Amino acid sequence: MKSFFSFLLLMGMTHSFSQEKFQHDSFKTSLGELTMSFIGHGTLMFQLDEMVIHIDPVSREADYSEMLAADLILITHQHGDHLDAGAISKILKEETKLIMTQTCFDMFEMEKVLDAEILRNGDKSSFGKLKIEAIPAYNIEHKRSSGVAYHPEGEGNGYILDSGDFRVLVAGDTENIPEIKSLKDIDVAFLPMNLPYTMTPEMVIDAVKAFKPKVLYPYHFGRTDTNELIEKMKDCKEVEVRIRDF
Ligand code: ZN
Ligand code: ZN
Repeated sequence: MKSFFSFLLLMGMTHSFSQEKFQHDSFKTSLGELTMSFIGHGTLMFQLDEMVIHIDPVSREADYSEMLAADLILITHQHGDHLDAGAISKILKEETKLIMTQTCFDMFEMEKVLDAEILRNGDKSSFGKLKIEAIPAYNIEHKRSSGVAYHPEGEGNGYILDSGDFRVLVAGDTENIPEIKSLKDIDVAFLPMNLPYTMTPEMVIDAVKAFKPKVLYPYHFGRTDTNELIEKMKDCKEVEVRIRDF
């Protein structure tokens, strides 16, 4: 019996250790404390009060068999660094709600995922009191040699998570598109800077100077130099730029 309990204790320690491995920040919202863990690349995990939200969970950024099970999973688009059936299967519970794009859904062959909710650009949904809005995510300038955008318009989603008094934008793979620049009342924005697929630091600056989130996290920045962003954002005091370990 004793060894069984120490086994459980060890399991518990392993579990909490795996969560603690990731840098995280917390914010107060009317729905409770929102803790954002920076898993890596374009992958995030949010905990809002008791709710666990995984965004683009992929196995190359974390061992999902050790991660908290999901109440809600959001997938921005079908690229391999965002959609990973293996990672999703490890955090699914019976009642997990999955939100994804049509293209992701079409690529999926998992029994449980048949009841995923498909959101197109502009669609709205909710989970408990949390409101979720899908917004466009696409390239204007950056294209493949074939001339097709890395992220064609209408295919991928960015998501706004709205707690009522606190709005978070997770932009997905996108550029400084007008739909982002015209957003209002964004408290925290995650914008990608992975080149050549998403935004240059200049594009990020152009976007944030237009919609002025209170806090900007560049994420999914690959090898792009975040110092360039910090340097050029020095004159924009309304936006706090936070660089985290992605
Ligand atoms: Zn992509
Ligand atoms: Zn990506």
